[in-house]
Amino acid sequence: MSTAPYDDQNIFAKILRGEIPSHQVYTDADTVVFMDVMPQGPGHMLVVPRAPSRNLLDAGAEILGPLMRTVQRIARAAKRAFAADGVTVMQFNEPASGQTVFHLHFHVIPRFEGQPLEPHSGAMEKPEVLAANAEKVRQALAAEPPH
Ligand code: 5GP
Repeated sequence: MSTAPYDDQNIFAKILRGEIPSHQVYTDADTVVFMDVMPQGPGHMLVVPRAPSRNLLDAGAEILGPLMRTVQRIARAAKRAFAADGVTVMQFNEPASGQTVFHLHFHVIPRFEGQPLEPHSGAMEKPEVLAANAEKVRQALAAEPPH
């Protein structure tokens, strides 16, 4: 189990409650997807369950099916939206692993041959770039219904 309780003042809980803005790409009953403000590559997104958990270690098993369906759907859309060569999916648990926001999330990052990832939690991207990238993924999702 995790080492600390869930704190509902974390930044993703605030995004889920609409208390702070985000560039949203997709929502359904169980999940929300928005752009990472410090992308490790163009089109870096975060797939977040609505249900509160600190990370994978304390998450209820019942949330994982809907969550992974959205991760797969967003990974496919990301590949199409950015004509990517591949897609990296990452997820961290507790500070020792690199986790910095303590609400469960999966990173979905389009990848291009020969292009390394930018640093984790590095430079802030311009809002207009995040907005344009979010729109590309929304269009890719609209163009192809879920499998
Ligand atoms: P972690 O290190 O917990 O796996 O990832 C947290 C991610 O959240 C990082 O990639 C970081 O860039 C991103 N992030 C941090 N603060 C914000 C924010 O206020 N809004 C958004 N959209 N992303 C954030």
